[in-house]
Amino acid sequence: MDKCMDVNMTVCAWCGEANGIAIGKKLVDCKNKWDTKMVFGGYEPCSTCQEYMDQGFVLMEANDYPNQEGQPEMQDGVYPTGRYWVIDREAAKRAFPTAPGDKCFIDPEVAEKMGLNNMESRDGN
Ligand SMILES: [Zn+2]
Repeated sequence: MDKCMDVNMTVCAWCGEANGIAIGKKLVDCKNKWDTKMVFGGYEPCSTCQEYMDQGFVLMEANDYPNQEGQPEMQDGVYPTGRYWVIDREAAKRAFPTAPGDKCFIDPEVAEKMGLNNMESRDGN
């Protein structure tokens, strides 16, 4: 059986849209060549998400444990759920006066308390 490259799609960690390709280290049987898997492509937002994120202050929902088995952490003990909200920078400054930069991670419980669950998340769900 001929061997072919294992070509997979990488997906944006935030919106789940395919945003690139990843070539696996191992060759696969050519009959499985188009069995493309969706693989984790890192926490860099895709251009669509980046555009949203650039519009304000970004709240990224994250747990301190993996949301799925094998999920890599984004920072020490930070495992984003993939949901995020972009809020007005001025409002963010009042709500999170100590947050440096343009984003912060929030616990799902806090997100719930803040009523973010009633707001449309940008992850498309
Ligand atoms: Zn995206």
